[in-house]
Amino acid sequence: MRAIRRFTVRTVLPGELAALGELVHNLRWSWHPETLDLFADVDPDVWERVGHDPVALLGAVEADRLAELARDRRFLRRLADAADDLQEYMTAPRWYQTLPDAPRAIAYFSPEYGIAAALPQYSGGLGILAGDHLKAASDLGVPILAVGLLYRHGYFTQSLSPEGWQLEHYPSLDPGGLPLTLLREDDGTPARIRLELPGQQNLHAQIWVAQVGRVPLLLLDSDVADNDPAARDVTDRLYGGGTDHRLMQELLLGVGGVRAIRVYCRITGHPEPEVFHTNEGHAGFLGLERIRELTEARLSFDEALEAVRAGTVFTTHTPVPAGIDRFPAEMIARQFGGDNAWPTVPVDRILALGAEPEDGEGHKAIFNMAVMGMRLAQRVNGVSRLHGEVSREMFRGLWPGFDTDEVPIGFITNGVHAPTWVGREIMELAGQEMPALMERAQGWEGIDKISDEDIWAIRGRLRARLVEAARKRLRESWLARGASPAELGWIDDALDPEVLTIGFARRVPSYKRLTLMLSDPERLRSLLLHPERPIQIVIAGKAHPADEGGKKLIQQIVRFADAEDVRHRIVFLPDYDMALAQLLVQGCDVWMNNPLRPLEACGTSGMKAALNGGLNLSVLDGWWDEWYDGTNGWAIPTADGVTDPARRDELEAAGLYELIENEVTDRFYDRVDGAPPRRWLEMVRHTLVSLGPKVLAGRMLRDYVLDLYTPAAKAARALSADDYAQAKSFAAWKLRVARAWPGVRVEHVETSGVGDTPELGATLEVRATIALGELDPGDVAVQVAYGRVGQHDELERPDYADLSLDAVHDDGHAFYTGTVPLNRTGSFGYTVRVVPAHPLMASPAELGLITVPEEPAGMTNGTLR
Ligand SMILES: *Cc1c(COP(=O)(O)O)cnc(C)c1O
Repeated sequence: MRAIRRFTVRTVLPGELAALGELVHNLRWSWHPETLDLFADVDPDVWERVGHDPVALLGAVEADRLAELARDRRFLRRLADAADDLQEYMTAPRWYQTLPDAPRAIAYFSPEYGIAAALPQYSGGLGILAGDHLKAASDLGVPILAVGLLYRHGYFTQSLSPEGWQLEHYPSLDPGGLPLTLLREDDGTPARIRLELPGQQNLHAQIWVAQVGRVPLLLLDSDVADNDPAARDVTDRLYGGGTDHRLMQELLLGVGGVRAIRVYCRITGHPEPEVFHTNEGHAGFLGLERIRELTEARLSFDEALEAVRAGTVFTTHTPVPAGIDRFPAEMIARQFGGDNAWPTVPVDRILALGAEPEDGEGHKAIFNMAVMGMRLAQRVNGVSRLHGEVSREMFRGLWPGFDTDEVPIGFITNGVHAPTWVGREIMELAGQEMPALMERAQGWEGIDKISDEDIWAIRGRLRARLVEAARKRLRESWLARGASPAELGWIDDALDPEVLTIGFARRVPSYKRLTLMLSDPERLRSLLLHPERPIQIVIAGKAHPADEGGKKLIQQIVRFADAEDVRHRIVFLPDYDMALAQLLVQGCDVWMNNPLRPLEACGTSGMKAALNGGLNLSVLDGWWDEWYDGTNGWAIPTADGVTDPARRDELEAAGLYELIENEVTDRFYDRVDGAPPRRWLEMVRHTLVSLGPKVLAGRMLRDYVLDLYTPAAKAARALSADDYAQAKSFAAWKLRVARAWPGVRVEHVETSGVGDTPELGATLEVRATIALGELDPGDVAVQVAYGRVGQHDELERPDYADLSLDAVHDDGHAFYTGTVPLNRTGSFGYTVRVVPAHPLMASPAELGLITVPEEPAGMTNGTLR
């Protein structure tokens, strides 16, 4: 018989052990080994049995044992120390507290969070990044208030059928068995938010709080008695249902999330966020809810839009068009129109925010969440330098007339939270030599104080731990696939703690090319079975449940790895999650990644490997394109121009095999008299010194705070001051400029100062006559754009200089002058342009308005000597 409902009866801790409850309910334990040690000592056997899950530990430990601990003076002293340490961690001023003008609080929205394996509310990189963002924020004292959904079945756990087909199982999670606390009103009743749906329906949700160090994470949960069964299932699974289901989840996350923040701040006195950061498009409805709030407080839609945009940051995460979150526009119209419309927020305006620029008027069938995200946020970023470039290209249609370089999408390269991902041995070694190394951007050169022998010994220990854990998982997987224990003797010797170990673990969308390594199976086999310099490969990854193609790829890998001749050298470990990721990134010597460039936005698993002294062997995509320096790992050559995908795969696979054969194994096995491989360890040291400071989530957080959060807070404050005076005037200005823009023309441009044969170092004088129509000179910037020109007279990454106003005539003509330094040889050109100018604009492209001469002006293709 199956239970129709389950819940967890929590242990009542003896008073002496009350602090244990506090420690368990702050997820800081997930990156604090001393606290985990304490939990382990509560009952080592139970701790192993519950898979290092502290809440489960408290549920499972015997009352006798607790009574014993309550009398154990040594344990109580350690408990008190741990509680003090947490208290200090929670309250001491940190880096953020030294900043002037930083936001009082920042709201952070994400559809998934990877905080700990024991809280399975993530599917992949996006969630892990969100988790690392919160942890790094906590370490630095950044006052983030995070919002997400609590999925009652989380993401699926993966196992394999006898044929190697992925099987999915959705665990039934009971919030009472998770490190969560229900948010309650002062009178003890659970706090609730409510969302209005078409047809006078309501969607209710309660709010669970996960405390991630200093950062509260609010998780909305629709499984409450007031909801009908369909509404209760809105938060059933992560990325589980159809389009309707996804829309409900995103409405709850965005609109409900803002309401949950208001409730949380009211109950706890937490400061209201000044900045709202949306991690990918799924939470984009939050901007609409904030517009609703402000329009109900008597701003117009346009005024509210400006106030909201100023304080919103949007991070885009995918360069794969199929990965962009889109809805049929009619679904949005139904939600925000008809009997369910918000009186102050016209549905047409909402639809316009999500309309794709390619759509002509009258053909707005698609509502695009990324596009809305960009229209609702004054600051937008991609997650690596290359991804920034790709995003500018991908979304340039939103800023017609502007060169791709000027599309206002920047980048902040992702990072990883060292205390979560770095092996304890390495942390301790680093700690002895360089205190707090992992939190800082400097001091990594100190790695040279550590001997080759010490580094090699630790690498060996981490590899051996991986091998041991892999055997255990392999055995479990084979048993689950129906093998009998008697057939599994070979597993005792599967993998070898001395053999070069390559890791490959990630989600399995097609662009990540799980099976590229199988491109030439014989060649792979010979690498695995090489008599002197063998390699072994450990593979893991989940395919999305609806992705049959991805499951086929997994099956191909599993079938290859099942073969008797290689099964001791290549293994697929089911159920890739944070716990398995930790083992892998710590234990592998080489971290392999071969996405189809440039479809990997950033990638973070290779960063985790690097911090553990693993070497990256990767296609130059995402972060690796930016930080590979020629000697801190290897770049798999890409066949970028080759359009036939099969041919491209073949070429890139050949490059991969060659690198492994000639470079990777060569270095690893180059031992003189049994000493550690010197040339290998040189590369490890160089990896740590060159990448260590950059790949930290702390670096990423500082970048977000200084480059995005603080400017956004300043802009939002400026707009909201004096009863939103500037929001009103900025909105009015934008409308006026947009209306008058067709009257702006570049009438005439002339130059002097250089003769027929311009020379380097000369100065070009530029004079332009501009028709301003209804606008004033103060509404615009007139700029000269100059620099190298390409074959078709196009300016390549031009520089810009403002021209200054000389005179305005009564007929609306204005005269501008300025100079251009001829500062580089070769083909050189310039043009003049007019763009709107206002101190509250974050980029010249913000209004999407630009005027250039009708005939390209300038001495295009003049060649400088
Ligand atoms: C780090 C991590 C990821 C993301 O890794 P990518 O390199 O972006 O593929 C995905 N899943 C888990 C469990 C991780 O730990």
